[in-house]
Amino acid sequence: MHDKNSENHPTIKGAKIIDGKLNFPISWLNQQGYCEYSIYLEYMEGISTLPTPEMMKGQEIHQELEDKFKEEAVPATFAEMMELSQKEELLSRELWVVSPEYGIRGFIDEIWLTPDEFIIIDDKPGTVAYYSTINQVFGYCLAFKDIIEKNSEISNGRKIRAALRERGTDNIFWSAEFDQTAEKKIKTLINRMQDLLNGSKAFLPTDNPRKCAKCRFSSYCEFK
Ligand code: SF4
Repeated sequence: MHDKNSENHPTIKGAKIIDGKLNFPISWLNQQGYCEYSIYLEYMEGISTLPTPEMMKGQEIHQELEDKFKEEAVPATFAEMMELSQKEELLSRELWVVSPEYGIRGFIDEIWLTPDEFIIIDDKPGTVAYYSTINQVFGYCLAFKDIIEKNSEISNGRKIRAALRERGTDNIFWSAEFDQTAEKKIKTLINRMQDLLNGSKAFLPTDNPRKCAKCRFSSYCEFK
């Protein structure tokens, strides 16, 4: 799962060119649902802001979980995990996924590999399943599916389920199968993101003033 032909995008901060295609972090799908124009400001215009308290708290909890997992983890390659999980349940954290085909990449917070299905978990603050967070976790599902489809002998037809979990707890507050409808929807959104990033469509600002009031880019934004 390493990026063989990977280089930084010449003008878009955080984007890469992988195997000749623009590749963006899957977390941008979440930001897209909040406000597309903030993606423009942050990555096209290169505006950086201080992290919000919520972002800092998220990083802290993330690190705690990661450290705890590492204390108990037995290192295994991806192929070994896939094989072993045909017989027993496994858990992995911070699994790196990259799909050159769809132009997306990122770390899956946690994945449960079971003999029947793969459960892809994204940790979020709160317990509301916003469509933007659902899009993000479906993005991870698509990248994961792309990888295992290219290695079909290790997936042996197992389904993929997406789940959102309240950060720092065991509370899974939303889950759904990554079925054909979900796959079609997320592919359409990813195509839109590619169009935005390659300049063929315009980034739209949100029309929700409550979002602007909380936005870390509001002092730089002409639409606030
Ligand atoms: S201020 Fe409003 S319109 Fe501007 S980037 Fe932030 S959320 Fe979007």
